[in-house]
Amino acid sequence: MMLDEAAIRASLAGLNGPTGALLLAADEVVSVVIEDRWAAVVLGKDQVSVEFLRLVHDHLWRSFPDATFEVRTGSDVFRGGSGFGQGRHVVAVLGGKGGVGKSTVAVSLALTLSAMGLSVGLLDADLNGPDIPHMLGVHPRSGHRGLNWKLLTSTVTPPSQRPRPQERYRLEVMSVGFVVPERLPLAVTGRALVSTMLRYLIFGIAWSADVLVIDAPPGTGEELQVMAHDLPLSGAIFVTTPQDLAQMDAERTLGLLTEHGVPVIGLVQNMAGLTCPHCAQEIDLFSQSTRLTDAGVRVLGRIPFDVRLSVTADQGEPLVLGDPRGPIAYEFAKIGLAVRRALE
Ligand code: ADP
Repeated sequence: MMLDEAAIRASLAGLNGPTGALLLAADEVVSVVIEDRWAAVVLGKDQVSVEFLRLVHDHLWRSFPDATFEVRTGSDVFRGGSGFGQGRHVVAVLGGKGGVGKSTVAVSLALTLSAMGLSVGLLDADLNGPDIPHMLGVHPRSGHRGLNWKLLTSTVTPPSQRPRPQERYRLEVMSVGFVVPERLPLAVTGRALVSTMLRYLIFGIAWSADVLVIDAPPGTGEELQVMAHDLPLSGAIFVTTPQDLAQMDAERTLGLLTEHGVPVIGLVQNMAGLTCPHCAQEIDLFSQSTRLTDAGVRVLGRIPFDVRLSVTADQGEPLVLGDPRGPIAYEFAKIGLAVRRALE
């Protein structure tokens, strides 16, 4: 069917709620932007639920099955599925504190999912230290630095005009480090700014990946509120270390994710033991806190302390690629399978 503004408006005029009442008045469809078989519909309604956005999206999709739609209200964007698109997923890798190995796990998981045949993007959203470009050896010469993301989020940019992510090892890669010029203290503080920037990095970039792995900002406060409430997450993965003794905020974090309907896929225990450099045996160093497992979170995998993980990260050549048959790659394969299953 012809995809033009009149056809889209006509379709929306037939959108009724469960009681048969009209859901959208004609003047609540503020604007329609079309590019080929893609369209964005901007609604002039405040405070609508995700369910409402889904209703509008799926109605349009039924009317024009070969088109893709983006439904917007203010700066909220919904593209079907969990929000990122039909059959497309955003998965957050979370760790309460910095230094627990969140970035290491995010990079290794993204590469593993890619090796399993998925098309994968990696978004470095770690505001305190965007390290992923370094770990992958991605050094964009030009491109995204200084992009005016504050303006870009409130305007509708058709797919062909969105900046492309970087590419490395068959992953699409994007980092807050590409759009915010300096390391800490970053210019991005406060919930509204963090939220705007992260949503720009998800919706304003021309990702073609079906699975977007986010290296989440550390912390359990505002950043987590943004992750759980404002981003279209299909699932979350915790990373903890034995030093994270009490996993103090873990339960609060779990509560927040549950409250916002974000499924917790599981837990990766990092630096869980030591791999002997001589015999490759694993030595237990600490016992792991059981707070998360007690709360019903399943352990997806256990990554030992292995100095090669940090050495290869510094060289920009991740270990799961350099030693694809080693024990760490094997553990990540287990984690990757569990994640893929959770998304299916
Ligand atoms: P985060 O993203 O949580 O701040 P990183 O992934 O940057 O943590 O890890 C912190 C440091 O620890 C990095 O130098 C990283 O290479 C190293 N590291 C992470 N996991 C391991 C591990 N299992 N064994 C050895 N070093 C690790």
